[in-house]
Amino acid sequence: MNFRFSPEEEGFRREVRTFLADWAGLDGFFTQGHRWSEVHDLFRAMGTRGWLSLTWPEALGGLGRPLTYEYLLWDEVGYARTARNPLSAGIVARTLVRHGSDAQRERFLPGIRSGEIHFSLGYSEPEAGSDLAALRTRAERRGDAYVVTGQKCWQSYAGDMDYLWLLARTGAPDSRSAGLSLFIVELDAPGVTVGRLPIVDDHPLYEIHLDGVVVSEDRRVGPEDGAWALMSEALADERHIQFPPGRLRRDLEEVWAFLCEQGLERDAEVRSTVADLGVRVLEAEMHALRVLDAMLRGHDAASAAAANKVVFTVTCQAIARAAVDLCGPEALVQGTRPELLWRQSLWETIGGGTSEIMRSVVARADLGLGGQR
Ligand SMILES: Cc1cc2nc3c(=O)[nH]c(=O)nc-3n(C[C@H](O)[C@H](O)[C@H](O)COP(=O)(O)OP(=O)(O)OC[C@H]3O[C@@H](n4cnc5c(N)ncnc54)[C@H](O)[C@@H]3O)c2cc1C
Repeated sequence: MNFRFSPEEEGFRREVRTFLADWAGLDGFFTQGHRWSEVHDLFRAMGTRGWLSLTWPEALGGLGRPLTYEYLLWDEVGYARTARNPLSAGIVARTLVRHGSDAQRERFLPGIRSGEIHFSLGYSEPEAGSDLAALRTRAERRGDAYVVTGQKCWQSYAGDMDYLWLLARTGAPDSRSAGLSLFIVELDAPGVTVGRLPIVDDHPLYEIHLDGVVVSEDRRVGPEDGAWALMSEALADERHIQFPPGRLRRDLEEVWAFLCEQGLERDAEVRSTVADLGVRVLEAEMHALRVLDAMLRGHDAASAAAANKVVFTVTCQAIARAAVDLCGPEALVQGTRPELLWRQSLWETIGGGTSEIMRSVVARADLGLGGQR
């Protein structure tokens, strides 16, 4: 594993930093729900530079660059706190590149590439989170269309998005992962109701009711009943950018600055704790680079990515909790950065797959425990 980036890649990192300097006040990583129109402008500006299609094939309007460029882009954006990576440009676009029809590519890829159109992921349901194959939302075929009925919950950003990337059951009720299909559904289509869900840090989280929503057959992506393999591929494509270590570097810098403001910078316990956290941030970065390295070599990065998710999320919780432990109530005053980090980090070990599920992936794949699934 080579930890160095090439001079061209380092040059790209500098270019990204210069670009982000103009967006320094945005803070959309934590507040996208309140600042969507500015985050949308940021994505449009990235789109004009080709940064939302860095690794897509050139034939489809991409820049055809290696995954390292995406890693560097979202690592810098995570450090600058500007935004989280848009799921449209990754999961949705790459699935359309591989499995979409020509008409679907022509219809959706240009808008995704330019940062104009955005998707929310409609996977989870009240009784199907970790066990996604248990989902019940039904897409019933009627001629050359489907009628969709069911409930989705915990859809990030759905209130500001244009489309739902919907996973629904087209097979028999007990068909599990073998009876699921993917659809693109307008979030303002008749029969779609989007409602906000409260969450500890005000992350924009929604539930979506689908009541007899008519979806034409040409909005089904990939084969009927064949979504599971497409979803695994798409998830794999995103693994190198999901948990940018830059976010952790910034968390620790901000907590250290707060501790200094409290006059604690000479306290031995504070210094020892911050040094320990600094090592953990470096460890998390090594895990992130291990994922990138596996992907660049074309290896299966699933267990490296699962380990990375656990290390990243428990480290971001440890940083926030250290501020509370070391400063007490001062770190929990609403509006301070440690207080926001503490609230926000609570859900990091749940969204995108819980720590228990991630540990099970590592146990099975790397330690040979638990047998095959
Ligand atoms: C902030 C946030 C954003 C999200 N965004 C989206 C989104 O955009 N789109 C979307 O579709 N979903 C989204 N989700 C949903 C997320 O994917 C699920 O919350 C997650 O997969 C866990 O599912 P669950 O909440 O149903 O918990 P459950 O699956 O009910 O799990 C409950 C507990 O049981 C444990 N558990 C469950 N099964 C096992 C097992 N086999 N072995 C050991 N322990 C187990 C879990 O680890 C957890 O501790 C989001 C969630 C959050 C918190």
